[in-house]
Amino acid sequence: MTFAAQILTLYPEMFPGPLGHSIAGRALGEGKWSCDAIQIRDFATDKHKSVDDTPSGGGAGMVMRADVLARAVDAAIERQPDAPVLAMTPRGEPLTQALVRELVAGPGVTILCGRFEGIDERLFEGRPIRPVSIGDYVLSGGEAGALVVLDACIRLLPEVMGAPKSGDEESFENGLLEYPHYTRPNDWEGRTIPEVLRSGDHAKIAAWRKQKADDDTRLRRPDLWERHNGARDRPASGAR
Ligand code: SAM
Repeated sequence: MTFAAQILTLYPEMFPGPLGHSIAGRALGEGKWSCDAIQIRDFATDKHKSVDDTPSGGGAGMVMRADVLARAVDAAIERQPDAPVLAMTPRGEPLTQALVRELVAGPGVTILCGRFEGIDERLFEGRPIRPVSIGDYVLSGGEAGALVVLDACIRLLPEVMGAPKSGDEESFENGLLEYPHYTRPNDWEGRTIPEVLRSGDHAKIAAWRKQKADDDTRLRRPDLWERHNGARDRPASGAR
């Protein structure tokens, strides 16, 4: 089955962009996913093809019009009624590996890319659109965010990654960062690969990796560590 991506954007020429290369590019060529970049301006009705207007209440910049975006979103939903619709915005829920897994389990995704100061809020009120953020910083447009969402999804599609297990152990899959990696040469600038990784003792290697994943998560991402332990310490629902 093809994972069908529709991207609503003012810059369709930005797609597939970097996703036309490497793993994602190969998967695109093999029909494992499709990439349909749709020009939002085609849904404007005035002779200037305007998609934005000045912010109500004043302030800098322009706001993307709900009426134009709604026509674009509705057309995308009509083409792919079962695919969730995401809108890229710093005001959205954070993109997580869990959300990526959820998307990959479906038939595809439609992604609306904002520009300017953002999107008229009323668009979110009347339609099943999920606002999603790729992090706590502000991009100039949603296209880079859409590429991030798609890249994260495509690598998880069946038979896209070389080793089928390589997706399972990675950072965030079990709520932690992954353990660190090393490869030859063993001695590089006076630094050597931890002895245990060259011991051939699989149990010891697994224990070392588990410890490193814990330590690094606690140190670098105390937020993840806390959530992970909170989830572990909470009794399963229904338990007394
Ligand atoms: N005025 C908005 C705010 O402060 O929340 C920022 C608008 S930004 C300049 C223009 C567009 O870039 C947004 O509509 C959104 O589509 C995209 N964008 C910016 N930062 C993003 C982020 N962290 N995650 C997802 N999309 C983002």
